[in-house]
Amino acid sequence: MSATHSDASGPVLVTGAGGFIGGHLVADLLRQGAEVRAVDVKPLEEWHQVFAGADNRRLDLRDRDACDAAVRGTRTVYNLAADMGGMGFIEANKAACMLSVLIDTHLLQAAMGADVERFFYASSACVYAVGKQCSPAVTALSESDAYPAEPEDGYGWQKLFSERMCRHFREDFALCTRVARYHNVYGPYGTYDGGREKAPAAICRKIALAKLTGRHEIDIWGDGEQTRSFMYIDDCVVGTQRILHSAVEDPINLGSSELVSINGLVDIVSEIAGITVERRYDLSAPQGVRGRNSDNTRIRQELGWEPGIRLEDGLERTYRWVHDEVAATVAA
Ligand code: NAD
Repeated sequence: MSATHSDASGPVLVTGAGGFIGGHLVADLLRQGAEVRAVDVKPLEEWHQVFAGADNRRLDLRDRDACDAAVRGTRTVYNLAADMGGMGFIEANKAACMLSVLIDTHLLQAAMGADVERFFYASSACVYAVGKQCSPAVTALSESDAYPAEPEDGYGWQKLFSERMCRHFREDFALCTRVARYHNVYGPYGTYDGGREKAPAAICRKIALAKLTGRHEIDIWGDGEQTRSFMYIDDCVVGTQRILHSAVEDPINLGSSELVSINGLVDIVSEIAGITVERRYDLSAPQGVRGRNSDNTRIRQELGWEPGIRLEDGLERTYRWVHDEVAATVAA
């Protein structure tokens, strides 16, 4: 991974550090020699990854005082904390998703009152207008497609609101904010079961289980023809840091532009696993929008870079990790 950390001036705060992306970001910052404060609401034993080299703290960032404590003394903030999950979670927990607005608002206020020089916010492709994502043969979403506003109910509205908060704190209070719109991120040390998992991890888990048990059939949510792009975690970690240190003031896509259907995803993972599986389609399950891809014109122009890790390569690494996790559970 290329070195992108350039915060010689002081400690870096990563919120949501006990989660999937936060854990990988902390690892990369530590590798680059940064002093990292890692914060999450979960008890440490539930963090996806814990690093002894970081200052690990358990704080509920919905609380303003907790945000002040988290931010104090830091120069750089990566705000990744959110109550979120895959479609199964966000469609059934809209109020919980919206309440992440407390984290974002209080953290921005705390950053303003401290010596924070740069503030990163993890937004989502769920801010994009639902009406522009009705066909699996998608036109990739460019940044202007977020308006007129018609985001994913609950989670998407919250992200769009917080994006605008970042903009207004930059304009009104000169806080240097940067916003990335992540498109589905996947990789090892992600959530792969329990209800918050996303499609790549869920499919890796189902196929690993099919292989381990010999029952070669899996459930698929929807008809499998819905399309998405998936960004491997290493690209996400590099892109996040590049965007934070860039001059890009408005929200920018951070995602892969390699489009695949869910059936295509199953094909790739089956091949990696070396089995064929029978597919049972559950048309009543949550599916999200019909098609979504990331238009990377702007990130190429602004950063001269875009996520480039091929889906087959990222899935190979992800499947191996999920397989070993599932195997350990089955053995237990
Ligand atoms: P994650 O759920 O693995 O991590 C989020 C972490 O935030 C969790 O560990 C959670 O405990 C923590 N958190 C929740 N409420 C908190 C609170 N009140 N105080 C402190 N910590 C709290 O999710 P992730 O996949 O790592 O996503 C990180 C960020 O990126 C989130 O903001 C998410 O909305 C955004 N995002 C992720 C994806 C993706 O595909 N993973 C796509 C778009 C946007």
